Amino acid sequence: MAYQTTNPYTNEVVKTYENATPEYVEESLAKAQKLYKQWRNDPVFTRTPVLHKLAQIFRDETDSLAKVLTTEMGKLYIEAKGEVILCAMIADYYADHAAELLTPRKIDTIAGEAQLENHPLGVLLAVEPWNFPYYQMMRIFAPNFAVGDPIVYKHAAITPASALAFEDAVRRAGAPDGALTNLFLSYDQVSDVVADKRIQGVALTGSERGGTAVAEVAGKYLKKNTMELGGVDAFIVAHDANMADVKAIAPRARLYNAGQVCTSSKRFIVTANHYDEFLESLKAAFSAVKMGDPMDPETTLAPMNSKKAKDKLQAQVNEAIAGGATAYYVHEPIDDDGQFFMPTILTDIDKNNPAYGKEMFGPVAQVYKVADDDAAVELANDADYGLGGIVFAGSQEAGAELASRIETGMVFVNTFFSSLPELEFGGVKKSGFGRELGQTGISSFVNQELVVKRDHPNDDETGGLILPHKF
Ligand code: NAP
Repeated sequence: MAYQTTNPYTNEVVKTYENATPEYVEESLAKAQKLYKQWRNDPVFTRTPVLHKLAQIFRDETDSLAKVLTTEMGKLYIEAKGEVILCAMIADYYADHAAELLTPRKIDTIAGEAQLENHPLGVLLAVEPWNFPYYQMMRIFAPNFAVGDPIVYKHAAITPASALAFEDAVRRAGAPDGALTNLFLSYDQVSDVVADKRIQGVALTGSERGGTAVAEVAGKYLKKNTMELGGVDAFIVAHDANMADVKAIAPRARLYNAGQVCTSSKRFIVTANHYDEFLESLKAAFSAVKMGDPMDPETTLAPMNSKKAKDKLQAQVNEAIAGGATAYYVHEPIDDDGQFFMPTILTDIDKNNPAYGKEMFGPVAQVYKVADDDAAVELANDADYGLGGIVFAGSQEAGAELASRIETGMVFVNTFFSSLPELEFGGVKKSGFGRELGQTGISSFVNQELVVKRDHPNDDETGGLILPHKF
């Protein structure tokens, strides 16, 4: 597929890009490998100042960087600016905390003085999606740059300008040649790069389809990998939830980024005592959205990223309704050629419905009625995915108790879901494996090398089974 910027609001094809040549791919991998060999011996603090400079660039150039996102994948300009600022926060955080997060861990053992040291692993391949073009990159770049792992990356075919803007910012921040290289790769080229012996790790964020394809190749070539995939996150409204809070958060949890967030609340699971009130309030919020130019501060719902995505979602909604679901609410059509999807609320989705447990990546809410909190947890867990989740309950303790029973990677209680530099991000089941960000994230692609030292061999016969016998 060609790398191309098409503005989903105006439908203008802005620019098309050529795929990377085999020579450029080779040159990029060679540079990255050379840098890894150097970085292998350089301490973390030699790299982190670049991350502070990168954060400054994202702060100084918020408006222009945000405009690239809005033009390319249609998100509201105000949300694009928020994404740019979050990137600055992530870069600053790893500049300030990476050395501490990567401090060797002492191990108490009879073998000697032992510690687990965190060394770079080698060159990584990142494969990233279009929905948060900078944030997804920063999530993988900042921690691993601090570690000392150079990265080559394949961004989504519809966000090439964002891919280049990110690479350019990193270069201007002073990162050495080879630290981060954008490659416009075909799927076959992705497989070739995964197989290349210089690649030591693969990080993909995207759909189950993309994840399956790339994880298969990574498995074949025994490359360590993390998979950050899709989800059908539950938003549980428990019997004692504060409905004022629920009403304030639920529409945002579904409509933010035009509903195109891996951790959007895709299934609202509502206890019977709140069901009618919840539906009415969600309908009021969905009908009040203002669709229009995503650059206009008055606009509250952006177009979707592409016609293809909009058509796919429409087909899913049609199938759901044909399968017995009720279209409880569909926003009246608007007169605009942008790729807008009319906010929709689906109810009465039974287990046999094609929409049951399927990710709908846009402004469509599935709402389920359950008898009580236990039934809510049971329904939340009746899914192949487990990425995030939100629980509203009468107290944070009660909510946390329900949260811990959900088979998922991340849950927020009585509040909006958010991603922050210090919080681990990732899921279970078909939502993937591994974590990005936080202590676990920064450890994903390090060689945790065990070093045991002493002045003379251990002569202690009680040293354990793994000590060789004396002859
Ligand atoms: P996608 O189709 O899987 O694409 C993601 C990336 O993978 C793109 O760069 C894509 O390239 C590439 N790709 C897809 N198939 C490939 C293959 N066979 N070989 C090599 N590369 C391949 O996902 P998407 O539809 O763009 O993104 C939305 C999905 O991502 C949703 O499911 C969402 O929930 C998930 N997501 C997850 C997270 C998370 O952190 N867990 C965050 C954001 C989004 P092309 O663009 O060229 O196809």
